[in-house]
Amino acid sequence: MHNDRGENRQQFLRIKQRRIKQNHCGIHDQNGKIDGRRLGRAVVTAKTCSCWMCNRHRKVFGPNMNEIRRLDKCESQIKEI
Ligand SMILES: [Zn+2]
Repeated sequence: MHNDRGENRQQFLRIKQRRIKQNHCGIHDQNGKIDGRRLGRAVVTAKTCSCWMCNRHRKVFGPNMNEIRRLDKCESQIKEI
């Protein structure tokens, strides 16, 4: 069985190094040093703001078209029963 945990860890470390190299916004603390927690957060969520363009699609606009279709299908199947 293929285990991709190592691969995920590798990608995480790669992006972490890239954030340091690019001097990414929001990874420094008040003293100007790189904060480990903020750096880790910057890997997962690159944007520091939470406006409608940078936020998660489902949080702002609700479920997407495929999910709406799937939910309708489930409801119609429940009604048949
Ligand atoms: Zn934004």
